[in-house]
Amino acid sequence: MAAHPDEEYVKIERQSEENGKERLILGKALLEKIFGDEEVEVLETFKGKKLKGLRYKPLFTFLPVDKPAYYIVLQDYVTMDDGTGLVHTAPAFGGEDMNAALDFDLPVLMTVKDDGTFIQEVRPWSGKFVKDADPEIIQDLENRGLLLRAGTYVHTYPFCWRCDTPLLYYARGTWFIRTSRHKDRLIAHNQEVNWVPEHIKDGRFGNWLENNIDWSLGRERYWGTPLPVWECQSCHHQVCVGSVAELSDLSGEDQSELDLHRPHVDKVVLTCPECQGKMQRVLELIDVWFDSGAMPYAQWHYPFENQEIFEKQFPADYICEAVDQTRGWFYSLHAIASLHMDSLCFKNVICLGHVLAEDGLKMSKSRGTAVGPWEVFDNHGADAFRWYLYTASPPGNTRRFSQQLVEDVVKNFTLTLWNVYSFFVTYANLDGWEPEASAEVEFNSLDLWLRSSLHALVRDVTKAMDAYDVPGCTRPIEEFVNTLSKWYLRRSRRRFWKSESDSDKRSAYQTLYTALVTVTKMLSPAMPFLAEELYQNLVRSVDQFAPESVSLAEWPKYEESFIDEDLNRDMAVVTKLVSLGHSARQRANRKVRQPLAEAAFSLGSAVEGKAVTAFADLIQDELNVKTVRLLDASEEAVSHEVKPLPKQLGQKYGNKFPAIRKAILEMNVEEVAHALLAGQSIKVKADGQEYDIQPDEVEVKAQAKEGFAVAEDGAYVAALVTDLTPELVAEGLAREFVRHIQDLRKSAEMDVADRIELFVEAS
Ligand SMILES: [Zn+2]
Ligand SMILES: [Zn+2]
Repeated sequence: MAAHPDEEYVKIERQSEENGKERLILGKALLEKIFGDEEVEVLETFKGKKLKGLRYKPLFTFLPVDKPAYYIVLQDYVTMDDGTGLVHTAPAFGGEDMNAALDFDLPVLMTVKDDGTFIQEVRPWSGKFVKDADPEIIQDLENRGLLLRAGTYVHTYPFCWRCDTPLLYYARGTWFIRTSRHKDRLIAHNQEVNWVPEHIKDGRFGNWLENNIDWSLGRERYWGTPLPVWECQSCHHQVCVGSVAELSDLSGEDQSELDLHRPHVDKVVLTCPECQGKMQRVLELIDVWFDSGAMPYAQWHYPFENQEIFEKQFPADYICEAVDQTRGWFYSLHAIASLHMDSLCFKNVICLGHVLAEDGLKMSKSRGTAVGPWEVFDNHGADAFRWYLYTASPPGNTRRFSQQLVEDVVKNFTLTLWNVYSFFVTYANLDGWEPEASAEVEFNSLDLWLRSSLHALVRDVTKAMDAYDVPGCTRPIEEFVNTLSKWYLRRSRRRFWKSESDSDKRSAYQTLYTALVTVTKMLSPAMPFLAEELYQNLVRSVDQFAPESVSLAEWPKYEESFIDEDLNRDMAVVTKLVSLGHSARQRANRKVRQPLAEAAFSLGSAVEGKAVTAFADLIQDELNVKTVRLLDASEEAVSHEVKPLPKQLGQKYGNKFPAIRKAILEMNVEEVAHALLAGQSIKVKADGQEYDIQPDEVEVKAQAKEGFAVAEDGAYVAALVTDLTPELVAEGLAREFVRHIQDLRKSAEMDVADRIELFVEAS
């Protein structure tokens, strides 16, 4: 029987109908639950510790015991929630009970047969199914005056997953691998493995190894790998057979044609080398996890064959499974390799988090939140599904899944890439352009920038691939394709449209082609179907000697000298400014087709200012303005107003807030606004004290000055002059006119190459 060492127990005296005056020991916390209003006298109160070793008379003594039993042991799992605070311990019928038996060397009494009925020694109920005997056992205890209460408890219980039959816990003898003896080796080899995410190494997997328990190997089943142990029926001598050849040797018969499964293998009888008795194979099969853990050797029939290829492939470079395999396949592979080869089994492992339903719970058919993979493949394609999985979050994270997220991939990425590709194909076909290494080209600054970005991309993606960083080798490709489409192509379209085939046009073709082919190759591990389609048309159709599939193509290499970090940074500034410029234009409600006189910018640093001068043409074209310049100071186009926030500052500084507020409002408003917009704190002196005021504690409002439309983001300001001259209005009209004609062409379903006759009537 088990008691909790630190809980309080009481010895009481009460009047019982059957027994007269009786004394009981039970958990103090359970007194009221058990006796309610009944009057009981507490004779003594003490900690459970005091009960240690106390002997008692057992309720039943059907089986003899061969070692000390029937005394109190102390266990932390005893609770004061139910019962008496004293827990009956039956080592043969429960895991915790068995552990207690191992700790205290208690006898294990098996009173139930394999069929769930009591053994003969349990005389009153021999042959009866244990659950059916419950009422009779209760009656027997009551008759003998040993029953205090009988009742029903609700608790969890194991059932057969297939037929819902209640199961019985049994202590069974079985086979184990004593992995706990080799724990140090298991732990040491784990330190050589590169885990992604890294925390699994010393976390989930490391802890599992640290608390290693012996590997329960035997299974009492029929189908599976038989345990190759033969045991003598007379003297119990055991032999473990290591090969078919050894079995032939021991049995004196050629066993090379033997089916090594049951029932055939069980028919092989050996002669005991100790007593000449009959040896028969033991009943057990091997745990299937041992089979999967033996995969690296079994697949090559190693060590009997293929030693060379095995040594080339072991240990494996890479494995990927979900996080539950830390106790499954990851463990069985690691344990067998550590014990058998004294080696790690895999050098790199990506351990996936589980995919949950949109509501954050496990997907469930009954709740209607399950999504079948084929449904996703059919609706959005396997490539988009994969891309979502790689880019949405690091692979170790648990994620909420919805098909909408995969649809977003198609909209935001796949179609963007496809549109760039199809633009290229359309014009390359029109012009009969083919990639020729020798063609004369003259790269402009956009081409050089795209080449620089492309080579930086190859460098970064390659590095991330080498580091098993999944988002790191996919997300940058998506960003690149976005800039390729929304900046490079957008700013280069006219170069493809013009009729003359000069070196400028050839440069644009070559730049775009190289970018598409390189992206295609880097995309192929993640989006093999899309990449193959692009590759076949872009590469194979013009180069019969190219590898026949993108999956066989060489991984792209980068050229360090093509990477110009200054240029990449400048272009990032430019794209930021034009996006602010477009916002400013929207605010002023002026269509992009209407040319404006001027765009002026204010930036975070002088270095960034160089980008505006260097790429003034690009910015002018994109924003459709006549001139571009830097603002002397942002005050030229915009004035600011600051408002100290009572909620944030009041909470932080209490009654000092009014003084701080006053001090802020007395400072130079533009200086304060600048600092806060750039994300810096400001120093404020109030009542002889200095305070550090944070950007989120003061609201900054911008007001465009007369004649400007303004948009700003942190230290960046874009200001457009909105006044229109008659010339600008006329030019806007001309652009409008062109757009109408383009719309007419479109509705007439004309091809880009079709020439038209145009009739115009003006008022
Ligand atoms: Zn069943
Ligand atoms: Zn023997």
